[in-house]
Amino acid sequence: MLWRLWVFLLLHLAGGLVGWSSARSRGALAGVIAASVCWFIIDGFRGERVLRWLRGGAQAEPPRMNGMWGEAADRMRRALRTRQIQVEDSQTRLREFLAAIQASPNGVVLLDAQGRIEWCNETAADHFGFDMRRDMLQLVGNLVRDPVFTAYHSSNDYASEAVMIGPRSTSSRPVRLAVRLHPYGEGRKLLLSRDVTAVEQAETMRRDFVANVSHEIRTPLTVLAGFVETLQSLPLNEDDRMRYLGLMAQQSHRMQTLVNDLLTLSRLEGSPQPGTGDWTPLATLLTQCEQEGRSLSALLSPDLPHALLFSPSPPLELAGTPSELLSAMSNLLSNAIRYTPPGGLIEAGWRMLGDGRVEFSVKDSGPGIAPEHIPRLTERFYRVDRSRSRETGGTGLGLAIVKHVVQRHGGELHIESQLGSGSLFAIIFPAMRVRDIQAA
Ligand code: ADP
Repeated sequence: MLWRLWVFLLLHLAGGLVGWSSARSRGALAGVIAASVCWFIIDGFRGERVLRWLRGGAQAEPPRMNGMWGEAADRMRRALRTRQIQVEDSQTRLREFLAAIQASPNGVVLLDAQGRIEWCNETAADHFGFDMRRDMLQLVGNLVRDPVFTAYHSSNDYASEAVMIGPRSTSSRPVRLAVRLHPYGEGRKLLLSRDVTAVEQAETMRRDFVANVSHEIRTPLTVLAGFVETLQSLPLNEDDRMRYLGLMAQQSHRMQTLVNDLLTLSRLEGSPQPGTGDWTPLATLLTQCEQEGRSLSALLSPDLPHALLFSPSPPLELAGTPSELLSAMSNLLSNAIRYTPPGGLIEAGWRMLGDGRVEFSVKDSGPGIAPEHIPRLTERFYRVDRSRSRETGGTGLGLAIVKHVVQRHGGELHIESQLGSGSLFAIIFPAMRVRDIQAA
């Protein structure tokens, strides 16, 4: 500022001296006026350069000049640069923040004070069926029409979450969403959504499972308690007593089988996948399974046993847990024996498939299964023929065990059946679990 004052005074002094030298006092006055005009024009021009640079968005280099205008331009350039770095920094942070919300497995929707969608992540768009471009700034209440959500949204009580049906839910693929609103800022809301379909299904399955187990155990237990009471209260002859004890043994055996199957299932679920270090010849597995099958057939139909045909096993070994493999094979064979009427034909055996896999199949000439039941047979406690299952000591868990064993060994279970034409159950194991016996 002092420098500027000096220049101003010197310019006027110079103008005055030049004027004085040519026309004394009138010349000095004209010289001072001319100096003022010059000062005004030069200063205005320098200020105009700075203003033009600012009007252009200060994108280009600032005009190079000395003095007050030069310093002003330089300071503005530095202030703008600092601001630009701050803006870029906060934009990067915002992008990272939005990317983090985008990666969230939960749906996130930002609503303004009017309830309009300001932003949402892809999960929320998928949950609510939003179009990320078209639906921005639309009222959320107009887009999410589920009555549960509408009531929750307008209730102003967001202490707990609400569970609504997802807009893309169908009867074959139900979708349940847990939603929760969190007010923030001035009237704004954060809408969070979670897909709870699997959790709810697991909870339903758990409840069904507990109910089924209780029911399965309660039935024999009630019978058993009834017999105990009878034995305690009635004077029975030896024959009746023996008959009642026999029936009691049957019921306790039924409970024992159920508990054993439940333990097998929980072991299968809780233990690590079988490795490929334990090899068992297919023939060994088949021999044990055959022995169990023949005794069961003799027990169930002593007068007219089934025709049990076992084909010779290929000279191969299978990697896995032998007890599990045997349990899967025995379950299939015992089902065939239990559901096929006395004297019926049952064929079982191993064979190698063209692609190196091996298949154990059991084919029976029993009653067959209607197609609508087939996809559900491996569900726990699912039975087509309830009374036949119970009569023959079935727990409703056999095929669930088979499915688990096969899955744990990387294999597949195939079921082919037609009502009245018998059934074919086959379990197939991958080639990596099969080797020649000679190679052992
Ligand atoms: P269960 O202990 O009742 O036999 P499973 O899980 O082994 O239970 O089988 C489920 C149901 O599938 C059985 O209750 C039965 O109705 C049907 N099923 C299984 N195997 C056969 C078969 N070979 N022939 C006809 N029905 C069968």
